[in-house]
Amino acid sequence: MKSQDVRKQFLDFFKSNGHLIVPSAPIVLKDDPTLMFNNSGMAQFKEFFLGNGTPKSPRIADTQKCLRVSGKHNDLEDVGFDTYHHTMFEMLGNWSFGDYFKKEAINWAWTLLTEVYKIPKENLYVSVFEGSKEDNVPFDQEAWDIWKTLIDEDRIILGNKKDNFWEMGDQGPCGPCSEIHVDLRSEEEKALKPGKEEVNNDHPQVVEIWNNVFMEFNRKADGSLEKLPAQHVDTGMGFERLCMALQGKTSNYDTDVFTPLIEKVEQITGLKYTSNDAMTSRDLSIQEKQNKTNIAIRVIVDHVRAVAFAIADGQLPSNTGAGYVIRRILRRAIRYGFTFLNTKEPFINKLVEVLANQMGEFFPEIKSQQQFVTNVIREEEASFLRTLDQGLQLLDHVIAETTGQEVSGAKVFELYDTFGFPKDLTALILKEKGFSYNEEEFEVELQKQKARSRAASEISTEDWNVLIPGNVETFVGYDKTDNEVKITRIRKV
Ligand code: ATP
Ligand code: MG
Ligand code: MG
Ligand code: MG
Repeated sequence: MKSQDVRKQFLDFFKSNGHLIVPSAPIVLKDDPTLMFNNSGMAQFKEFFLGNGTPKSPRIADTQKCLRVSGKHNDLEDVGFDTYHHTMFEMLGNWSFGDYFKKEAINWAWTLLTEVYKIPKENLYVSVFEGSKEDNVPFDQEAWDIWKTLIDEDRIILGNKKDNFWEMGDQGPCGPCSEIHVDLRSEEEKALKPGKEEVNNDHPQVVEIWNNVFMEFNRKADGSLEKLPAQHVDTGMGFERLCMALQGKTSNYDTDVFTPLIEKVEQITGLKYTSNDAMTSRDLSIQEKQNKTNIAIRVIVDHVRAVAFAIADGQLPSNTGAGYVIRRILRRAIRYGFTFLNTKEPFINKLVEVLANQMGEFFPEIKSQQQFVTNVIREEEASFLRTLDQGLQLLDHVIAETTGQEVSGAKVFELYDTFGFPKDLTALILKEKGFSYNEEEFEVELQKQKARSRAASEISTEDWNVLIPGNVETFVGYDKTDNEVKITRIRKV
């Protein structure tokens, strides 16, 4: 089944069950001090859960563009090393705002997966919240009893607060959840160990696909829980993971969500992607054994989606806030290409066309802003590539001069300040070589620099602009000082 059809069937199913289908909210949030990016489908409905305002319908479904690169949900470090965590992904979701609750949600989820998508029941496991003394929330007997009518009891697993109590951030609506996991291992491997033991255990082929959250609480700033005015349902299913299960693959990158992008990278670089080496381990010695080319390709085809959609939603790469997060993601991708794919010229921008052709029908913003997004990425690439080589040479030099395994924080700051190396990028490169750096020293240098720039603040300029969707704007280019991109110019036409 093609990914386009997977998405459509989800929406059609919930539409036929009385849900209003709404568009995805932008990936970047501009008016929520607790959250920088949409990290889940529910973020745009948060206020309704809190009892502020009324949704257009008590039942809603959609697919939401999500980004998990900061805050409570941050998967950046796993991306490329495993095969099922992305920075940007789509979350299919259905919601009840004070309408249906556990029974309907669980039954619909089961019907959709087993009857519409026809996933064999013997490949599925579900989990139920075991309760938390700390928060005074009991074991979810109700969910257990509903699942019992649908699935063998030995396929129901108890889950702890980490896995089965969902929270958007440190504050906000939350509640116990029930998750569905799919076992895609080979028959031989299944015979060796029950899938149940691999659930929530970082096995790349026993993955969580769908979370059904029963929103009943609000986490307050002081950490305590209060009951929400009504009971709600909030579900989120990873679209790319579902495609993997339905397309008979064992990696999200082998689905048609990613293969056109991978083919384009292969075409540009002349290198081949061989998918079957993906690992889940964060252990360096294991990562070392993985094929660096494959990791780099996964990182790049993942990151370009995050960056392209963020730019299309109006968040340009910049030196502050959300813009800096986007710049860091892009620079991370550029460095992976430079070091492991030998790409010395801008090329990531060329993937935007592929992305727009593939996703443009459902997400028109990527199609209508294709040229703009391409130009911004190309400029960013060109700018960073100008200093990347020198910066990497400096880093090698610093490493050669270091006794022990810890590099000076002042040097990492120099890389940041002069060569535009985000500190997490430097940390990543150092980690690959078995080094770390002194973070305190970095901070000291950063504070010194801030003090210097405060003194010169009268002449400082804003370095990013928010695009207003719908406005026709032409990208003119960046103004540059010695090494850093300082001002992004956008001229209305
Ligand atoms: P995991 O345990 O695999 O990290 P999660 O429990 O953090 O997932 P939820 O917050 O429950 O994920 O989000 C709902 C669904 O979104 C998950 O069941 C999964 O299918 C999908 N999902 C979560 N994080 C990612 C990601 N980084 N990339 C792709 N899909 C994801
Ligand atoms: Mg997670
Ligand atoms: Mg989980
Ligand atoms: Mg989950």
